[in-house]
Amino acid sequence: MPRGKYGTYFTSKVESCISKDKPIVSGNYIFDPIDIGGGNNPFTLNSEYATVVLAKVCGIIFGRFCNNTGEPKKYKIGEETIIGDHSEDYFMATWEELWDEPIMKQIRALQDLQGKPIVITLKITKSPCDQCSKKLIKFIQHYNVNLRLKILRLYSGDQGPIVNSFALLSLASTGVAVKMWDVLAKEKGFQKKTKRGQTHEMKYMTQHLKSSFLMTIDEDDAVEEKEKSNIELLSDAFRKQILQMQEDSKQQLQKRLIEMNTKELHVKKTKAAIQKDFLQLSDGDYLYAISNMEDFLSPYLYSLVKEEKFSLELVCNAIGFDLCD
Ligand SMILES: [Zn+2]
Repeated sequence: MPRGKYGTYFTSKVESCISKDKPIVSGNYIFDPIDIGGGNNPFTLNSEYATVVLAKVCGIIFGRFCNNTGEPKKYKIGEETIIGDHSEDYFMATWEELWDEPIMKQIRALQDLQGKPIVITLKITKSPCDQCSKKLIKFIQHYNVNLRLKILRLYSGDQGPIVNSFALLSLASTGVAVKMWDVLAKEKGFQKKTKRGQTHEMKYMTQHLKSSFLMTIDEDDAVEEKEKSNIELLSDAFRKQILQMQEDSKQQLQKRLIEMNTKELHVKKTKAAIQKDFLQLSDGDYLYAISNMEDFLSPYLYSLVKEEKFSLELVCNAIGFDLCD
């Protein structure tokens, strides 16, 4: 197995990723079932301390990245040297590492041939912090890629949810499609394969949620009499937790959008700095598009933004596979 300049093992060809059911970057990427816990477990969705990124490129699983994984990573975006130890840093470092390797050249050539951009999807357990947001904006501009972001919740660490809300809005206003990551969606989770034919990252997680979903559907007297299993109780708690954190995140973002639209952002040094950054980065059309919270995180806007540069044809046929029905 080939190894990149930073020591990462990777698959050499797109065909091997599909036929051998492997991500591009060597390693496990499938999330643990919810009964396997631990506050720092990087394979769960609900770790208190770990932030996990599951990255896909043109529908192919690129790899899973996590913070708290040792030394800060030193890498480059163009000429600029970057150092960081957030999960996004590990992703961007590995992207740089593999950019000129055969498998990425293969994907690039196939996209090029069709005149299509490279599309990256990051499914992330916490939204990017303001530092990572700035890096991600540089990253998409340097590599000329489309970025889609699915977030499980708004990050509340570092400089706090206010700054982090603006960081996320900066990304959205730069053309990044953002939506909540619907980890509870039955139709997603129960499928065992992705569109590209790789094992779905939620396979084990959702097997455990399944029983909980069935309980909800049949919520009548007969069900109440039955004692719930441990997994069902865990699933219920997990679902409640996810719904609550997503609701909180949306409210937080809504507040920030209102403040921004009414120019009533309460001044504190960091907030003012973020607002300045945000206004510099913002594109007028985009600001308009995201001026309504419903739109901002709606699947409709997500797909609009997604399709602006990214066509269905690309989704279906980016690497020469006919995968759409
Ligand atoms: Zn960060």
